[in-house]
Formats: sequence, structure tokens, C-alpha cells
Amino acid sequence: MIEYSVFESGLDKLAQCSLVRKITDRASSQGPRIVMGNREYLNFASNDYLGLASHPEVVGAAKEALERFGAGSGASRLLAGGCTLHGELESRTAGLKGTEAALVMGSGYAANTGILPAIAAPGDVILSDELNHASVVDGCRLSRAETIVYRHGDVEHLEALLRGRQGGRRLVATDTVFSMDGDIAPLKDICRLTKDYGAILYLDDAHATGVLGGGKGALEHFGLEPEPWIIEMGTFSKALGSFGAFAAAERNTIDWLINTARSFMFSTALPPPAVAASLKALDILQREAGLLERLWTNRARLARELKAMGFDTGRSETPIIPLTMKDVREALALSARLFEKGIYAPAIRPPTVKEPRIRLTVTASQSREDLDRLVEALRGA
Ligand SMILES: *Cc1c(COP(=O)(O)O)cnc(C)c1O
Repeated sequence: MIEYSVFESGLDKLAQCSLVRKITDRASSQGPRIVMGNREYLNFASNDYLGLASHPEVVGAAKEALERFGAGSGASRLLAGGCTLHGELESRTAGLKGTEAALVMGSGYAANTGILPAIAAPGDVILSDELNHASVVDGCRLSRAETIVYRHGDVEHLEALLRGRQGGRRLVATDTVFSMDGDIAPLKDICRLTKDYGAILYLDDAHATGVLGGGKGALEHFGLEPEPWIIEMGTFSKALGSFGAFAAAERNTIDWLINTARSFMFSTALPPPAVAASLKALDILQREAGLLERLWTNRARLARELKAMGFDTGRSETPIIPLTMKDVREALALSARLFEKGIYAPAIRPPTVKEPRIRLTVTASQSREDLDRLVEALRGA
């Protein structure tokens, strides 16, 4: 007998714990208001922090690239799948990050699962924050290096582990902004430690690029400089409103990744319209300081209101604001009540997080009224 019945019983078990997920698709573009079914919702679930995903200039740049270079890339970068836009995006990204070089990769997930195995191997040790993104976790697993998890943001724990592991290649891996709690890693201390112990620092800057440090990311936020022993990855899929990811580092590191990162070597280059959209998004990010200002004004406003209402927003210090709930059912029920009121704020459940929550994300394109409507709805919920 074919054993696919195990999937059915597995789903039954998930259902008993209210852990079955379902896909929700939009009938509109991404933005502060989205259409699902036949109804418009205020959207508090998007990582499109600056509203660039449907910015007319970004869309225009993608259209132009579509006409000039076509819809698909047809091959890996190593087999001329890329076009001149790819190289241009790499120079621009290196410029943004202040590194010698950068490499455009397929997605944030592909970057983490490709880069980590290229820079760590059996015999090496990776020290990884306990709340790192799943793609960092999977990258560590794929590397087959020994991975030791340190307590979230705990630099003393990290130092003790570094001290106990002299000799051999050591790598510290951390998200800069944690995607479910919205807190920022203590990068000053982490940088100092990695340097003192001669380790490599691997940063996942997915939620910081285009958000922190005037858009340059988390290092800039702390006034830290790029260093040859720091390797950063980030994405074009969040604040930059497009798709794809990058590695930014010194030249030899990038050349090494070109030759060894399997998710780069064995995967088709990003489609030209996505690359052109990222390039235009970088232009807008660097040209319009007002966008970041609005993002942070909105963030401060909503965080203040939520705290005044007595919500537990945890450690949040970025546009990611979790409302922690006591159990999965409570989180689902609140999310459902908001949905009835025309507000999309989904519940995040295990295994994505340990503590169930509503994860709100604030963007620059939300109006004051949008934020007020959420607050009102929460008050009445
Ligand atoms: C979203 C995210 C990724 C994955 O990026 P994609 O481009 O969506 O694949 C990786 N790391 C972190 C921290 C993220 O939040």
C-alpha cells in the first residue's frame, strides 16, 4: 500500500492543535490596502516596508526590462543567464553596503542555504542565535558544520561558547533584525567578540536593508563599518519591494561564493524585470529620505498606541510589532475578529514561533487613518 495516508493523519494531528495553515491570495497588488475575495482589507502583514512593490517607477522599470531582456533568464549566471542589469545591481548593492563586491542570488532562502555551506564545513563550528530565520538554520544544517545555538541576543553566552572553542574555523551567524520579534541583534558587542576571537561574522540583514541605518542596513545603524571578516546577506524582497537576495563582502569571498555556493551555481538567474525593479527601488530609497521617515513615524505611532492599550509588544524596536498571545486559539480568534472588521493581521503559530502572536508590520504607505482603524478595531475586539 502506498503510504500517503500518513499525510492525512499528520494533517489531522495539526488540525487538533489548530495548526493547519492555508494559503491566502490577493486579487490586488501588494500595498496598504489589499483585496481578498471581494473585500478590501487594511494590510498589516506585508514586508513591503516602503511601499515599493507597486511604486509606479518600480513597475515601469520592470516593464522596460521585460521588453528589452524578456521574461526569463534561461540559464544560471555561470551560463550567461544574467544580463547587464545583474552586474549593475551587484555594483549598486556593494555601493549601498560599502563592500568591495556583491553577488545577486535567487532568494533570501537560497542565499542562506547556499552561502553557509560554502563558508563552513564539517570540522568547523557555527554559533547561531536561537531565533535565527529558518533559512539560516537550514543553511547551518546543510553545511554539516557543528552548529551550537546560543541564547537569543546573549553576548555572554556567545563569548563563553567562543572561549570554549579555540582552534578551527568559527563562524557567528545572526539575523540583524529578528523577523518575528522585531528586535535588533546587539551587533556592536557581537562584532567585537567575533573580531577578538578571530571568527567570521555572518549577518542576515533581510529586515534591515532598506529599513535601518538610512536604508543601508544594521551595520550602519550601529555606526559599524564593513570588515573583511563580515559577510552580509540581505534581500530585495522586503523593503526593496522586488525579489531576490544578495551577498555583500570582500572580493575574494564573493568570488569563492560564485565558485562554491550551490544555490547560486545550480539555479537560474533572476528574471530581468525583478532585477530592474530592485535597481529602481535602490534609486528611490537613496533619493527619497521621506519614505524612511514615514516608516519610522508610523512605527513609533502604532507602537505607542499599542503599549498604551496594554498590549505586550515584546522586544520590538522595528516596524515588526508582535502582539504576544497566551495560546494559539486566542491568537487565531483575535486575527479572525480583525479580519471581520476588514483588517488583515494574521496569527503566527508554531513551528514558526514558540509563543503564538499577531505579527503586525508597519509600512511607510499606511496613512494615519489606517493605523487609527487598526487601533480602534483592537479596542473593540
Ligand atoms: C524573509 C527572510 C528570508 C528569506 O528571504 P526570501 O527572499 O523571502 O527568500 C531570509 N532571512 C530572513 C531573516 C527573512 O526574514
